[in-house]
Amino acid sequence: MAEIAGNMNIETVTVGAYDENCHVIWDGRFNALVIDPGANPERIEKVIQANRLKVVAFLITHGHADHIGALPALHSTHPAPVAISREDAPWAFSPVNQLPPHYPPLKSPPEISRVLTDGQEWKDGELLYRVISTPGHSPGCVCFYFPDVHAVFTGDTLFQSSVGRTDLPGGSARALTESLKKLRDLPDETTVFPGHGPETTIGIEKRTNYFLRRSSRP
Ligand SMILES: [Zn+2]
Repeated sequence: MAEIAGNMNIETVTVGAYDENCHVIWDGRFNALVIDPGANPERIEKVIQANRLKVVAFLITHGHADHIGALPALHSTHPAPVAISREDAPWAFSPVNQLPPHYPPLKSPPEISRVLTDGQEWKDGELLYRVISTPGHSPGCVCFYFPDVHAVFTGDTLFQSSVGRTDLPGGSARALTESLKKLRDLPDETTVFPGHGPETTIGIEKRTNYFLRRSSRP
């Protein structure tokens, strides 16, 4: 567990067949956001219980099955709002969204109560964040940016030294390039928490990530 700044805490649980990072973050009053609960609900639940957290929302960076697999189980215990983009909402919880054999179609998917669009600002407990729409890996990818603590949760849009693939249904390399330009505009000291792999910073990626460097060309 790492304390980022002030009263915001974060714990990353790497779950499922694709080693997806579920991030649990919480404020000083134990209000928690669960970002991309992809699989292994019992392991995510352990973090919630161990820290006596109250889940105030589930934030989904995009609809792929490896990012939402544990949502029904966790939501049944913690009936907090589920937030996903307008573009990914229609298919994320439909039977087409599956990655057999590891991710069969979701049984009893939860209701989507927050439809995310670019530039929205949300405050849950003391956790203030902005939605950055970053299509490319999927049509409705979003990143969650927490300006007070200089942190961004990038899902499968930006990884350490890499970016998300764009050959899946609804993917677009051109859209991804435009999305990366938005992430380049964040302060260099911003910590990047990706959906797979280790943390990095915007500054490091601007210097070393081929895709982010390329996105700066006119
Ligand atoms: Zn994905």
